[in-house]
This record gives sequence, structure tokens and C-alpha cells, in this order.
Amino acid sequence: MKDNLNLFTADLHIHTCLSPCAELEMSPKEIVKKIKKLKIDIVAITDHNSSLNIQGVRDASRGLDFKLFYGMEITTREEVHLLGYFYTLKAINDFQKFLDSHLENTDNPKIFEEQVIANGKDEVLGFCKKNLYMPIDLSIEQTIDSIHSFKGIAIPAHIDRMGFGIVGQLGFIKETLKIDGIECYDRNSEIAKSYLKRYPTLTSSDAHKLDDIGKRITIFKMKDRSFKEFKFALRGEKGRRILFL
Ligand SMILES: [Zn+2]
Ligand SMILES: [Zn+2]
Repeated sequence: MKDNLNLFTADLHIHTCLSPCAELEMSPKEIVKKIKKLKIDIVAITDHNSSLNIQGVRDASRGLDFKLFYGMEITTREEVHLLGYFYTLKAINDFQKFLDSHLENTDNPKIFEEQVIANGKDEVLGFCKKNLYMPIDLSIEQTIDSIHSFKGIAIPAHIDRMGFGIVGQLGFIKETLKIDGIECYDRNSEIAKSYLKRYPTLTSSDAHKLDDIGKRITIFKMKDRSFKEFKFALRGEKGRRILFL
């Protein structure tokens, strides 16, 4: 029976040149060019502790046929990487204002010169003077609550990676943690397998260089590419879901 739902490919974990550990080649225009070539339907920019390059990617992608989600990979006090996704640019920018008061400043050029803010034409606008590699001063519970208070979605990143993964850092995922899903690199890893049944699971590239964009994707069955549908798919509502191929 026809259900009016479609399949969409998504890579919801991509860093730009703003992330200190990402390559400089991860500029807004180059990222957009690569997404266009790969024909990915939905992508999210998720820099470490910052949303400053999302505007640039949004401007570079104007008129193109893919959907951009607004995300961030926050490093909590426990050094757990937690992905936050937000409905609108305003919502993530408001969340950033809140987060900035929980982040360290830096005046060390060796640090901030690795944190490049670029516009949609790949022009350098400046450098981020927060130390994006350092954890914020909030616990994972506080960070999840904060993301939710801005109507965002909270998903622990790469749970099957030891460094900065929730299981590697904390030993396990507490059932009381109010997360909306999990992300893993490999659904067949022992860690992922032990949580797949409990949580909706995303697989994304965590690209830090152009060649890695799209190397892992999630397939969604949804009506359209809206954030609202993404939320339905995470909750398995109205027939929307994540597909495993
Ligand atoms: Zn990470
Ligand atoms: Zn990442």
C-alpha cells in the first residue's frame, strides 16, 4: 500500500574548518560542492561547541536541492561528545549564546587560528576566540536539559568510539538519561549492538576532511526533509522511521 513516505539519505555529522581538528579544506563552498556531488538529501553541520560556520554553509548552499540541519557537537564536562540538533538558525544561535558562558576564552593564536570562521564565498571572516577543543563546564545531564530547553534533539555521538564516546568515558548509557537517540560508527560493533534496541540509531560520517563526507549515512523513511519529520522518525511515529539496509 502506498504510504506517501519517501526515503532520504542523511549525513548528520560534518565538521567545518571552524573545528580545530578539521582540515582547512572543510570550507563552506567545498563542503557544499561535495554534498551536491554525492547527492545527499539531508546534512547537518556539527562543529565542536560552535555554530559559527552554519550561516556560511547555508549561504553557500542557497538554491541547491538538499536540506541543511543546524547542529553542534558539544563536549560535556565528562568529555563526552553530544550532538545537538535545532529547528532553526535562531534557535541554535540562541543556544550558542547560552553555551558561550560555559566555554573558556582563548587569546592563544596557536589555538584560535585553527578555528576559522568563513562565509558562503569561502572568505575568512575571523577566528573563534573560544577554546572549542575544551569541554564546557556542564554535565551531560545539564547539557541534555539545555538542548531540550531550546527545543533541540540530544544524541550522544559515536558511542562505539572509545575517545569521547559516552560508553568509553562513562562505562555505559544510564537509562535515566533523556537522550533522543544515539549515533554509532558501526551498527555491528559490540557496543552499538547492545544499545540498538533501546534507542533510535544514527550513523553519520563525522567528516573532518572532504573525502569523508557521506562515507556513513542514515536512511530515513519520512514524508519530507523537514526537521519535524526527523523528529517523527526518531520517535518512530506515523510510520516514519530509520531504515536499516
Ligand atoms: Zn566526536
Ligand atoms: Zn565529530
